[in-house]
Amino acid sequence: MALSGLDIYKLLPKTNCKECGFPTCLAFAMQIAAKKVELAKCPHVSDSAKQSLESASRPPVKLVTIGSGENKLELGNETVMFRHEETFYHPTGLALLLEDTLAAAEIDKRVAAINKLRFERVGQNINADLIAISCASGKKEIFVEAVKKVLSASDFNLILMCEDAAIIKAAAEAAKQRRPLLYAANKDNAEDMAKVAKELSLPLVVRAEDLEQLAELSKKVTAQGVEDLILDSGNKDLTDKIDDLTQIRRLALKKTFRPFGYPTLAITTSADPYQEVMQASAFVAKYAGIVIMKGVEPWQILPILTVRQNIYTDPQKPLQVEAKVYEVGAVNDKSPVMITTNFSLTYYTVEAEVESSRVPSYIISAYCEGMSVLTAWAAEKFTAETIAKTLNECGIKDKIAHQEIIIPGYVAVLSGKLEEESGWKVKVGPKEASGIPSYLKSLKN
Ligand code: SF4
Repeated sequence: MALSGLDIYKLLPKTNCKECGFPTCLAFAMQIAAKKVELAKCPHVSDSAKQSLESASRPPVKLVTIGSGENKLELGNETVMFRHEETFYHPTGLALLLEDTLAAAEIDKRVAAINKLRFERVGQNINADLIAISCASGKKEIFVEAVKKVLSASDFNLILMCEDAAIIKAAAEAAKQRRPLLYAANKDNAEDMAKVAKELSLPLVVRAEDLEQLAELSKKVTAQGVEDLILDSGNKDLTDKIDDLTQIRRLALKKTFRPFGYPTLAITTSADPYQEVMQASAFVAKYAGIVIMKGVEPWQILPILTVRQNIYTDPQKPLQVEAKVYEVGAVNDKSPVMITTNFSLTYYTVEAEVESSRVPSYIISAYCEGMSVLTAWAAEKFTAETIAKTLNECGIKDKIAHQEIIIPGYVAVLSGKLEEESGWKVKVGPKEASGIPSYLKSLKN
């Protein structure tokens, strides 16, 4: 049974030395009880206390690492059902399927297409993470050859998909330096697959047809000493699979049911490329640690990565850009000056529209704690006073020979007061960023 914060506190050194990053041992104990921190953060716990505390301090969903070095992919260690309760920490790994039966030239082509699945969105680089190589041939030589080919052509992490333990062992040995994920132990091969995973110290997927069987297999494989598991409850229709993923997460978090205390995996099943995007996005939202899909078109991948980026952004810390003056295009001292807030999505949307207008302009990103325009206005972070202060302090006055500022249409109500506060002439821009190009072009006429 889980220990309370006070139970845990009794076993800590009670010196309040703060080395764990918390002001007191009691504060640290409360965080352990809430499963928000690991016991290892306290360097002074005695061995006997460690043993007693082990089960209370273990995260409800284990952190599992695939790959190594800079490219390693960490999954799990989640603590909440809903992101607004705290945040989700380790984004879903997106894996693209590749079958070893493809001709060599086709493998090269597909790997090259997968390597390009990297995008920039709201100032962040987002990309697919893994290549899942499936042993569709059933032949060791062909599978190992395909794995070697992918290894040399891509730095993506790997999932090796084969249910024959001897074949997967040969491929895993060839790819061991990449620390691939092995897929999968099932009711027929669990013992042999666990031996391979244990011997090579690699993470292993456990795959079953229902949750009961999954729990049994998880127990069986961990009893053989495999510590890093990923759980797959099998291919099902979307509703049933989401139900499984939700049950696994709930049992791990709310009941501390250890056999389900690992990240999960889901494979898209739809042959329709649009439906596949919808399936993958739903799996990202609820609660897959890894999603494997077939489609590799950028128009399929970008929406899924966008969903992932949104879900795995800390809701209490909105993405922000640096609050400063940005120059878009070859600006001069007559260029228009626009002001917006420092919420990334707002800033980059404005920037993209200014770029597409081809009217060189300055954009002032005003510090508003990463809030969007209307939220910042409602919270009194984007007011006539704060904008006037920003105009005085941001350095824009040294760059231009006029004093005209374009404010977002949604805060048109600020214009009069802002003119009084700043002495600048205030122009009201469009409400929606999509209106910026025609607005800027109209200024030139
Ligand atoms: S490091 Fe350990 S002893 Fe020091 S305050 Fe934290 S819990 Fe207490």
